[in-house]
Amino acid sequence: MYEGNYLAERLCTASMGTQNNPFLYNHQTGEKTTYRTFFSNAERMAEVLVAIGVEPGDRVAVQAPKTIAMLELYVATVLAGGVFLPLNTAYTPAEISYFLSDAKPRVFVCDAEQEEQFSPVAKEAGVAKVLTIGADESGLLAELRDAAVPGFKAVSRGPDDLAAILYTSGTTGRSKGAMLTHQALASNAETLRDTWRFNADDVLIHALPIFHTHGLFVATNITLMAGSSCIFMSNFNADDILGYMPEATVLMGVPTFYVRLLNSEGLSKASTNMRLFVSGSAPLLAETHDQWREVTGHAILERYGMTETNMNTSNPYDGDRRAGTVGLPLPGIEVLVTDPATGAPLPQGETGVLEVRGPNVFAGYWNMPEKTAEELRDNGFFITGDLGRIDKDGYVHIVGRQKDLIISGGFNIYPKEIELLIDELEGINESAVIGVPHADFGEAVVAVVVAQGGAETSAADIMTGLKDDLARFKQPKRIDFVESLPRNAMGKVQKNVLREMYAGTFR
Ligand code: AMP
Repeated sequence: MYEGNYLAERLCTASMGTQNNPFLYNHQTGEKTTYRTFFSNAERMAEVLVAIGVEPGDRVAVQAPKTIAMLELYVATVLAGGVFLPLNTAYTPAEISYFLSDAKPRVFVCDAEQEEQFSPVAKEAGVAKVLTIGADESGLLAELRDAAVPGFKAVSRGPDDLAAILYTSGTTGRSKGAMLTHQALASNAETLRDTWRFNADDVLIHALPIFHTHGLFVATNITLMAGSSCIFMSNFNADDILGYMPEATVLMGVPTFYVRLLNSEGLSKASTNMRLFVSGSAPLLAETHDQWREVTGHAILERYGMTETNMNTSNPYDGDRRAGTVGLPLPGIEVLVTDPATGAPLPQGETGVLEVRGPNVFAGYWNMPEKTAEELRDNGFFITGDLGRIDKDGYVHIVGRQKDLIISGGFNIYPKEIELLIDELEGINESAVIGVPHADFGEAVVAVVVAQGGAETSAADIMTGLKDDLARFKQPKRIDFVESLPRNAMGKVQKNVLREMYAGTFR
């Protein structure tokens, strides 16, 4: 099926001949979607996309609630030869405006309930068509899909053609669109399917967002490529997950999931028949790994990846899953540690910048040739910006982030973006934004602010000033006023000093 479309062909192979098998169980309605229904809906949606003018290479942007219709749109976009561009549901109209102006999609699909707010934003950015998806699977896109006929002939696309663009946060406040090819997505999902032994009998609990690489590509592509089933939850809920475990086999989560589940009654009994727990997107504390093993008897399998590269390393399926490490490079993927100053490879065991090369690596940043040249070497290695080392057994340890990235609840937040917004507010002199360890979110955003002499401004004023321009997950959990920021001899703000000062705040 779907011959000539590199990714689509591979996504449907495992379920061919077993099209009546369930692909998705809808957590909200209890309904089951078979592979046959899913692909025929995706084909009809592809028909709709082409009818409204989507041509090969056109971007299809979407900011909508997590629904099966949104997954159909992903596969439909691939079938139509388009480039899928999902956006975080927390982004405000001001943020969406930037993404639409930068990516210039042919279509923007938004939440049916927010159409009034987003339509003018899309129009201003020059987007030709706005469609909607509702949280209840309704909306204009579903109506058009239901009026179309299945049997769409997949548009021909090769391994090097783009299948998706996922935006990451930018250190200067500008997000960068990582361009992902058909081959990058297909090869990584195939590798993970085999490494983690996914097969048609697996039932994955899917509680991750689908605008991010983890929930969209890792969870969804692997399920499709193995012909497995998936319990599709609109968001994380510890009690519901425990309720599903006896009929499921795998859970994929961010560390926050595991911390919360450990606080729930009945985890030990519920997890008896599960075969695999995967964690990633942020560091899993060794303490959480150990507690989990004590309570459930399972060692969480931690892996490491990023938007630009899909997954790079994984602890072994068979063999030692070591707490505090992200495991070994995946087959076909090379990981190198280099000197942050010179870029030269470092001797084994030393800490430096992690660089990655393989078929999984992205094709560059959308519209940013200079950024691409800075981070993607001519020899194919991508400079991840993560700091780490590789031990004598080949396990990769991540020790920090070169660029002060904050990861809260699995989402990346770059301090610079928040600092720029705070500094613009009335009565503010300057600010420093840091990530502080948080028992639930991994890290929490803290803003340390210096007010202008004599200005009467409060934390509440700052929150009011940020609300409309900043997604909720990026908004500070604490704002403190100080006389001055600590600085080193070179005049640089010492964020490490601030991090130490606030280290115990959310423990
Ligand atoms: P994203 O692009 O949102 O997937 O974020 C990627 C970043 O998350 C990486 O560059 C790492 O800094 C971090 N990350 C992902 N997985 C892990 C992990 N298992 N341990 C530590 N950091 C991780």
